[in-house]
Amino acid sequence: MKNWSGNVTFEANLVVRPTSVADIQSAVMAAEKVRAVGSAHSFNQIATTPDVLLSFEHFPKDIEIDSSKKQVRVAAGVRYGELAIALNAAGLALPNMGSLPHITVVGATSTGTHGSGAKNKNLSAAVIKIELINAVGEEVVITGDDLHAARVGLGALGIIHHVTLQAIDAFNVSQSVYKDLHFESWLDNFDGSMGQNYSVSAFTTWGDSLVDQLWIKSHVENDVLPSGEFFTGTPAQEKLHPLEGADTASATEQLGSVGPWHERLPHFKLDFMPSFGAELQSEYFVDIRDAKEALQSVHALREQIRPLLLVTELRTIAADDNWLSEAHGRDSLAIHFTWKPDVPGVMAFLPTLEAALARFDARPHWGKLFSDNGFNFWELYPHFEEWRAYRKSMDPDRKFVNEQLAQWGI
Ligand SMILES: Cc1cc2nc3c(=O)[nH]c(=O)nc-3n(C[C@H](O)[C@H](O)[C@H](O)COP(=O)(O)OP(=O)(O)OC[C@H]3O[C@@H](n4cnc5c(N)ncnc54)[C@H](O)[C@@H]3O)c2cc1C
Repeated sequence: MKNWSGNVTFEANLVVRPTSVADIQSAVMAAEKVRAVGSAHSFNQIATTPDVLLSFEHFPKDIEIDSSKKQVRVAAGVRYGELAIALNAAGLALPNMGSLPHITVVGATSTGTHGSGAKNKNLSAAVIKIELINAVGEEVVITGDDLHAARVGLGALGIIHHVTLQAIDAFNVSQSVYKDLHFESWLDNFDGSMGQNYSVSAFTTWGDSLVDQLWIKSHVENDVLPSGEFFTGTPAQEKLHPLEGADTASATEQLGSVGPWHERLPHFKLDFMPSFGAELQSEYFVDIRDAKEALQSVHALREQIRPLLLVTELRTIAADDNWLSEAHGRDSLAIHFTWKPDVPGVMAFLPTLEAALARFDARPHWGKLFSDNGFNFWELYPHFEEWRAYRKSMDPDRKFVNEQLAQWGI
């Protein structure tokens, strides 16, 4: 079994496909080491284990909506796309989605997955209850303050079988794409261009000092819809894919067309291959106040970046108070790289990129590629030690800790 990208092989002794909570309990109690996998879209070894791997494709796909409280209880294994269709049919929405709807709710929230939007927190912020099986096979229900530790749990606290999310009322979004914004003037107007609409993503290949595409997702009732020129960008006259030359059929509808939130907030449609396919990804989060300087530092490396790169995406994320959230305590800019599938080349370059971003205390995305020894998580996350203590309380014998987590100091 491989991950979505094909760069990670799962070499578990045993793959268990639970169909009930009792199956999870038995598997956890019998295993020496155990991890769960969602849709295997992470790019590093975070979901692997040498012993028992729990995979949820046969688990009942519960989506239980409480319309009066606007809450939904979702089973492990349910993908965002499946949840979104059910929620929308009930007149509800999630505050945000990632670039693709193919990933599971539990797997994505566990790594701090995010979309864009200056006022939108990462996806785990919507979690209000976690139900999991701890290392001795007991049922644990996490609510209240413990959620600060548990929302972004890296799969290290237990095997989650359900999470409950707080939803909001359904809303409509209009998506427009603007082309060829001048990089320096876009940087000078960073807050305006990225902050005026519900969710904005900037794509660049770092060539000719341009932001190649600005994807603007406007809340139809609350935002002023862009028209004419937008911060030196011109409106695209045809549908675009973030990667030039790729088939636009997989991209969500653009050209200002209005649609329900879940058909515009992701960049890609559920029934199609997202992004490029043959690719790797890395992403680093810096304080939004350092956006300009951090981007200039990356821009200075563009001659080394461009041979390895398919495309860069720049997004904003609102601060939250979850201990391992990459946006913990600071409104953030996420600087993302979709790389060509050249593992040695990318891994050889990452230390250079990370050194350039180190002075901004850049935090790497937990589910993407970064140098194993390049980060001091005690310095980057003020609650890292408390989180480690919380993890230990759930799993003193490190049953849920794999080699990847150990390398990160967990
Ligand atoms: C094409 C593509 C586009 C992407 N776009 C974005 C994006 O827009 N924004 C972004 O932030 N990231 C993005 N990512 C990264 C992706 O969202 C994360 O890696 C996410 O964690 C993947 O979710 P998953 O369901 O595949 O989880 P997996 O990769 O399978 O697992 C992730 C973690 O969750 C844990 N886990 C899974 N299920 C359980 C469970 N039942 N109990 C306990 N732990 C569990 C695993 O052990 C692991 O630690 C993208 C990835 C790809 C391939």
